[in-house]
Amino acid sequence: MKLRFAPSPTGHLHVGNARIALANWLFARKSGGHLLLRLDDTDTQRSRQDYAEAIEEDLRWLGLDWDELVRQSDRLERYAAAAEALKASGRLYPCLESEEELAYKREQQRRAGRPPLYDRAALKMTPDQLSRAMANGKVPYWRFKLSNTTVEWQDHVLGRRAVKLSAISDPVLVRADGSPLYTFTSVVDDLDMGITHVIRGEDHVTNTGIQLDLFAALGGDARKLAFAHLPLLTDADGGPLSKRIGSLSLRQLRRDGIEAASITGYLAGLGTSHDPAPGAPRDLLPGFDLGAVSHSSPRFDPRQMMGLNRKLLHALPFA
Ligand code: GLU
Repeated sequence: MKLRFAPSPTGHLHVGNARIALANWLFARKSGGHLLLRLDDTDTQRSRQDYAEAIEEDLRWLGLDWDELVRQSDRLERYAAAAEALKASGRLYPCLESEEELAYKREQQRRAGRPPLYDRAALKMTPDQLSRAMANGKVPYWRFKLSNTTVEWQDHVLGRRAVKLSAISDPVLVRADGSPLYTFTSVVDDLDMGITHVIRGEDHVTNTGIQLDLFAALGGDARKLAFAHLPLLTDADGGPLSKRIGSLSLRQLRRDGIEAASITGYLAGLGTSHDPAPGAPRDLLPGFDLGAVSHSSPRFDPRQMMGLNRKLLHALPFA
């Protein structure tokens, strides 16, 4: 078994990321699998080295380790080669429409009561039209031609899942400056690195449909890949946690005097029927069962986590 935790170093890790990292770690360590820490750092505008360093430090503080570290920015040549292969098979096609043109098309579709799907106009462009546009200084970006199928998989947490690809716009995989996007790099890596289990947030369910199609287009065998999507955390009122995420970064919690074991113990209990108790990752191994995680979004209640922290501190020797 081979797993990966793949954060983007565009900010500090928060409790939502920590939950995914912990689930990957527990699954890998319980099954004797191999765990990669993969930095999704191809977005050069937003990725920062200090965030990458902070991610490693925060994960270690939580009590997590990994068997291998990979930086996507070291693999740009490999992504370029994979893009060439997709171009050759006709699955990656050049587009020239500007953001304004696309926004205008979407607006028209909306007015006509149609879903705002990309119309694949670029596929109708002749080689001659393309080379003339390029001679005039236009540089294409590249979209992946999705299959006209419904992708299905048995999710380890959510159960049977299906994504209808005809309801999704062909995704851009390569920007005009040649830089590859996450949807693409992630699949190339999962394939090359022999990943067997992808554990990530429920916000990636649609991506999974797209990525399985891409996986097959790159010659992968999708049956070798299992998925588990964890429902996203909500705040104590049931709203999205994202509004409060700044105060829930691991750095901030550490500064506030929260012990790592209070965070990991609390996160491991969320969405399960177990009462959460403080616990370092290795102490949580015996009770860990991904299949027992509920389909609905668990509430993240900082007060409850503080309660665990108090319990943990009380039990420590006075010195
Ligand atoms: N960098 C992506 C994220 O942080 C990774 C998602 C994945 O696990 O594929 O959401």
